[in-house]
Amino acid sequence: MNTEKQENSIIEISRNFLIGLKTTIKTFFSKPVTFQYPKERLRIAERFRAFPHLNVNGDGSLRCVACFLCQTVCPSEAIKIKSGYVDYGFEHELTERQKHNHSLDKLGGGMFSDGRRHPSSFEIDLLRCICCGYCEEICPEEAISLGSDYEVAFYSRDEGIYGIEKLIKSR
Ligand code: SF4
Ligand code: SF4
Repeated sequence: MNTEKQENSIIEISRNFLIGLKTTIKTFFSKPVTFQYPKERLRIAERFRAFPHLNVNGDGSLRCVACFLCQTVCPSEAIKIKSGYVDYGFEHELTERQKHNHSLDKLGGGMFSDGRRHPSSFEIDLLRCICCGYCEEICPEEAISLGSDYEVAFYSRDEGIYGIEKLIKSR
């Protein structure tokens, strides 16, 4: 390398160094754009929607009537439903209000039904869900809605599959 080329290269390096230094000094005195998660949280917009959850009636029963529309419309095939007549679970879990409000038929095994079709199993794979909201839009019973909780993390793929209980709790 001749002397002229060496000089040009030193000038170029010094120039780039000063540009970098300028950026560092400027950023050092400006307000940070990052924050200390999870101590500090993002303020999310009111209209922000994340994962779906299941809605219940005033007496705690599921609004879902297992019509399969959401399962059919879901573009990522994240929803798996099995229909059945079991709604309220085991006898000891029934509240007095539920017993009073519904004429329940005993199905055997200590389980009850209110005579309407409900999902005996309702699962959403949150690892597949793309939060598109089609399930909420298509549901005729307002039984499924998208919530604002986006902070979900799992140690295995199975943990990402939410059943009825988790889908109600995640409201
Ligand atoms: S939000 Fe979209 S992707 Fe997620 S379960 Fe509903 S329809 Fe499927
Ligand atoms: S959540 Fe709504 S659309 Fe989906 S099966 Fe239940 S009633 Fe039908």
